[in-house]
Amino acid sequence: MDYKNDIKFRKETLKKLLFSVQQNEDLIIKALYDDFKKPAFEAVLTETSYVISELKDTIKNIRSWSKVQQVTPTLVNFPSSDYIYKEPYGKVLIIAPWNYPFQLALTPLVSAVAAGNQVVLKPSELTPNTSKIIAKIIQETFHINHVEVVQGGVEVSEELLKKRWDYIFFTGSVAVGKIVAKAAAEHLTPTTLELGGKNPCIIDETANLKLAAKRIVWGKFINAGQTCIAPDYILVQKEMKHHLIGFLKEEITKAYGISPEKSPDYTRIINTKNWLRLIELIDENKVIFGGQSDANDLYIAPTLINEEHLDSLIMKDEIFGPLLPILTYKTEADLESIIKKYEKPLSLYVFSDSREFAEKMIAKFSFGGGCINDTIIHFSNKRLPFGGVGHSGVGAYHGKLSFELFSHHKAIVKKGNWLDLPLRYAPYKDKLAFIKKILDWI
Ligand code: NAD
Repeated sequence: MDYKNDIKFRKETLKKLLFSVQQNEDLIIKALYDDFKKPAFEAVLTETSYVISELKDTIKNIRSWSKVQQVTPTLVNFPSSDYIYKEPYGKVLIIAPWNYPFQLALTPLVSAVAAGNQVVLKPSELTPNTSKIIAKIIQETFHINHVEVVQGGVEVSEELLKKRWDYIFFTGSVAVGKIVAKAAAEHLTPTTLELGGKNPCIIDETANLKLAAKRIVWGKFINAGQTCIAPDYILVQKEMKHHLIGFLKEEITKAYGISPEKSPDYTRIINTKNWLRLIELIDENKVIFGGQSDANDLYIAPTLINEEHLDSLIMKDEIFGPLLPILTYKTEADLESIIKKYEKPLSLYVFSDSREFAEKMIAKFSFGGGCINDTIIHFSNKRLPFGGVGHSGVGAYHGKLSFELFSHHKAIVKKGNWLDLPLRYAPYKDKLAFIKKILDWI
């Protein structure tokens, strides 16, 4: 078992993993439903199919991605040829969250394995059924010394973080991200932190409101708003707010019916703690639509909230649930003062028919990634880096980028022996003017 050097072995294990995921797909879908009633459609769209596609892409490209890459040498080193070697880091720890518990655990794992690392994966304790099936798949596919699943809660995570790792890949909250970063700093371990934030959704006066409402409702209420890149709040031109609300209500009803609690397509809140946290955020006087809830069923309806104050409870932190505050703005200066009040978000969305306005928003604000005239779909393109900036995260992954992320890039110069120019060697007397000329020239 030479996962470090044997690309063929890595490829074969990834094929085994693909087979196992495909074989167990129904069980995964069932586990996701049992954990928080994630509908099968969403389970396939956002969890299993994503992992399967990442696996297929990695299996197809692993050889070319792991090849030693030749780069143009520099003239000062003449004669030489220069290369980048991809080296596995070694032991990688992956800590995963609960909201997309299968996909966010397996996607980084695929690339960590492809790049030749050993992996310890800690899935979320809040989705026990999914974590169990993940453990089964991993046990069936890998030798325990190669990839291991360690299950448990915060204590287990804390114990794992005390150990020395060669790379840590963490997906979760900003608060825990800081704990991970501190633990990693102890051993100068490189980390990727995939965190969250308050994602603005800007709608200007040129936007196609009906279509915007449809796409916002989908991106916000999929997984009951428990999506790191879901729009957190809407910023709409004051005079358009009324129309937008009309369309949003219409789209929510179209998607989930007049009683979303009866819809087979609507996920539940993950646990009572999060349900209570979200209920606290609902100010009944500000509810425009929805607002119904049921503690026994961990249900909270898709809810629109009329919000005017940035200091209200719901505008304090990332909402991470099916509550959508709608705020208004008049000028671009208003947008700037609202968005920049918060840390750099994981995503930002602009709905506008004005290319100039949309480009201006993209340039003005710093955020992980986003869309013009849609929500959350940037996640689905493997050729786009997925990650945050500032408090929303460090590092980005997906597709080839993930392979690169889990590889140390070793720079090697292979020097020729047939010529040894004397210029660089001491004594330097009378050489300064000449070397300056050469350095200016190249
Ligand atoms: P979380 O930070 O509470 O937990 C994530 C993982 O960390 C879990 O496995 C948990 O066991 C572990 N953990 C919790 N407390 C810990 C501690 N004190 N020490 C060590 N480990 C600890 O996050 P969550 O509630 O599972 O997920 C929700 C958060 O994750 C949201 O903020 C969301 O935005 C973010 N998120 C980000 C992405 C992304 O790709 N950027 C994706 C999904 C979720």
